[in-house]
Amino acid sequence: MNKLITTAIDYVNGSPHLGHALEKIYADVYARHLRRKNKVYFLTGTDENSLKTVRTAEQEGVLPEEIASKNSLRFYEMKELLGLSYNDFIRTTEKRHFLGAQKLWKACEKDIYKKNYKGLYCVGCEEYFKEEELIDGCCPIHKTRLEEIEEENYFFRLSKYEDKILQIIENNEVEIIPKQRKNEMLSFIKSGLQDFCISRTSKRARGWGIDVPLDSSQKMWVWFDALSNYITALGYFNNEKNFNEFWEKGETTHIIGKDILRFHAIYWIAMLLSAGLKLPSKIMTHGFITVNNQKMSKSIGNVIDPFELVLKYGKDPVRYFLLSEFKPTGDGDFSYEKFEKKYNADLSSGIGNLVSRILTLIVKKDLIGEEIIYFNEYEDYILKCNKHLEAFEFNEALALIWKMQKELDGYIEERKPWEITDKRELVLIFSKLVLALRKIAFMLEPFLPETSEKILKFLGEDKTKINVLSREMLFPRIKYD
Ligand SMILES: [Zn+2]
Repeated sequence: MNKLITTAIDYVNGSPHLGHALEKIYADVYARHLRRKNKVYFLTGTDENSLKTVRTAEQEGVLPEEIASKNSLRFYEMKELLGLSYNDFIRTTEKRHFLGAQKLWKACEKDIYKKNYKGLYCVGCEEYFKEEELIDGCCPIHKTRLEEIEEENYFFRLSKYEDKILQIIENNEVEIIPKQRKNEMLSFIKSGLQDFCISRTSKRARGWGIDVPLDSSQKMWVWFDALSNYITALGYFNNEKNFNEFWEKGETTHIIGKDILRFHAIYWIAMLLSAGLKLPSKIMTHGFITVNNQKMSKSIGNVIDPFELVLKYGKDPVRYFLLSEFKPTGDGDFSYEKFEKKYNADLSSGIGNLVSRILTLIVKKDLIGEEIIYFNEYEDYILKCNKHLEAFEFNEALALIWKMQKELDGYIEERKPWEITDKRELVLIFSKLVLALRKIAFMLEPFLPETSEKILKFLGEDKTKINVLSREMLFPRIKYD
């Protein structure tokens, strides 16, 4: 089966923070898991046509293109930084995207009409709000005053799709994960869907963005433009074969933050229905990360830069913390204190120590080159681990692998191989341990790809022999003076 995995595409008015890294890592774990049995297209990118880009450029006295390129590159560089395995990175300023978004607009034409409109707009959200949604007259998310806008714009006939979308979500034709978010969407739909504005005047957009087909006085509203990236990247306009292979014949999973679910579960679904295209299978929504229990913000000065974090601790330790500390569908908290404590306990003293202990004993007991005696153990761990991966319970999958690590440590303590002299008995014990380490490496691959690869490299390619090719320390302990 062909599978498309997507993340949200990020705004380019700033550089990535830990929250962006978190989402890309979640998607990477899932993509690596699916790649074992499927052909996977893993897509991420940047959303560049928003008013925020224009305003940031104005503030910095440069062109929007410059801001967009500079920050998009920073997002792109997270691939190497975090060991992400995506196949494609789309920038919404690319030609394939412009042409694809316009093609989608045309495909939705029967549901598009023009009308005069007056509304309250939040540039932070790139969305209109109803009076009753505001808190003290401000955006409920950004807490800023909204801009009152009156212009003639294009609208999308969302009201027409109300019953259909309700049914699709209720029946899990598009499955929303977790259930709590699904229920939120259902009650939102039941409160009534109104047609939404999908363009703005070119004047208000400062000429930045994608022209509405056959009307260059209007630019596409940024969400109509942005959502279409999921198909434009595949080649909706310029590569029919790839588009059909992954979108129409494949299965799509969107991985997004809980704050933008409405756009995906309602607007995007309506656009696809209108254009007669296949719907995604799953929308997984993740929670947010705070720092010392505070929202990350420039004004507080607690924004964590993933580049600095990886430079200090390495990519797998960063992945491990974010994946094991809390469940993906809930919120989590980061602090350096928690990070270092977990690093020392689970990575340095945990898995790192187990690997080094086994390899050292093999060398000491002169077992290199011995024939492995085959055991079929720990298969249930792999099955359970896969189940957790399917259900986006990444923290539970890791807890399971660490349970196995503790069991193996317990086995070594119990057998005390350092006291054993009988070769046959030692080969039995270390066959079991080496096979178990290979299974741990296998299970770790979606989560900690670098560590998994190292463990397998240490054990050598020949699976029939006990071997130790290297004993490099996996996670040197963080020491305090
Ligand atoms: Zn807002």
